[in-house]
Amino acid sequence: MNRILVTGGAGFIGSHLCERLLKDGNEVICLDNYFTGAKRNIIHLMDNPYFELVRHDVCSPYFAEVDQIYNLACPASPVHYQYNPIKTVKTSVMGALNMLGLAKRVNAKILQASTSEVYGDPTVHPQVESYWGNVNPIGERSCYDEGKRCAETLFVNYHKQNHVKIKIIRIFNTYGPNMHPCDGRVVSNFIVQALQNKDITVAGNGMQTRSFQYVDDLIEGMVRMMDTADDFTGPVNIGNPGEFTILELAEKVISLTHSKSKIKFIPLPSDDPMQRKPDISLAQEKLNNWKPTIHLEEGLERTIEYFKKILDI
Ligand code: NAD
Ligand code: UDP
Repeated sequence: MNRILVTGGAGFIGSHLCERLLKDGNEVICLDNYFTGAKRNIIHLMDNPYFELVRHDVCSPYFAEVDQIYNLACPASPVHYQYNPIKTVKTSVMGALNMLGLAKRVNAKILQASTSEVYGDPTVHPQVESYWGNVNPIGERSCYDEGKRCAETLFVNYHKQNHVKIKIIRIFNTYGPNMHPCDGRVVSNFIVQALQNKDITVAGNGMQTRSFQYVDDLIEGMVRMMDTADDFTGPVNIGNPGEFTILELAEKVISLTHSKSKIKFIPLPSDDPMQRKPDISLAQEKLNNWKPTIHLEEGLERTIEYFKKILDI
């Protein structure tokens, strides 16, 4: 049994990870400041004596004897990370410093939830880990993109300088149950709008692409990455290479929900990446043939069921 710290554990991905780690027979400390997370996501785990909940902000140091750390604390939706950009940078950078400091002190293995956003608006397609990216350092998204890039820098240097056992994964757009109905990201927005027969807000002309990964596939990849040999640090892309335009996503959601919603075009936010698709060859090679198994339609159906339940539809 490992004692595992999950920062951002009450968030969308963190809550699924806590559940999986407990199921695998570990002891889990879930740390969160509830900025975008919710107790509702982890309430079903509260009765488990091997689950512990800590209200804490990763911008301040935290001390605990643990064997592994999954560092997920950071708002991930553009709406929420742009709400207080300075805080977003602090969370990424100071959070990484504090968690790496802890990993160093207690000799824990630490995994960083990095992002496809380190590639910015990519000029290489699909994105491979060796691509350095195309990020505007002073744009609306830079608090998140540059914060995450700096966190990667800290991780590799704690590894080189202090021999901390690190793992970096770059997560591509992930969706599923436990997303907040007001999260603001495209999949949850479209599903909530469709279930309420409201206009579906497609940004720009809807021809920009994303590759959507169902959360269970990500969790499997994350756990496999933590279990790789110490000399493999990543970064490694974890995503589903199926690529769809935002307009295609809108049409799929309308059809799966049998909604009366109409598509409404809204302005494209600045620096919105035009295309995104992971090259997952490295993940397949290093993570025991890992690959996504849940197709978009199946994942959307499961997510729609979740939102029907919480919106009481
Ligand atoms: P989320 O917003 O649902 O979860 C983030 C969690 O971190 C929330 O519970 C929030 O309350 C917590 N948090 C935020 N700031 C904190 C702070 N200062 N101290 C402590 N806790 C704090 O988002 P998510 O989609 O679950 O994302 C989790 C992680 O995965 C993030 O680091 C995100 O950057 C990364 N990621 C997610 C995606 C995706 O598509 N979902 C893609 C790439 C990377
Ligand atoms: N988007 C949209 N309507 C929405 C929310 C988002 O058309 O209501 C678009 C957004 O402009 C982007 C894509 O969907 O092109 C994915 O946005 P999201 O915020 O989910 O994640 P991103 O990959 O941009 O970080």
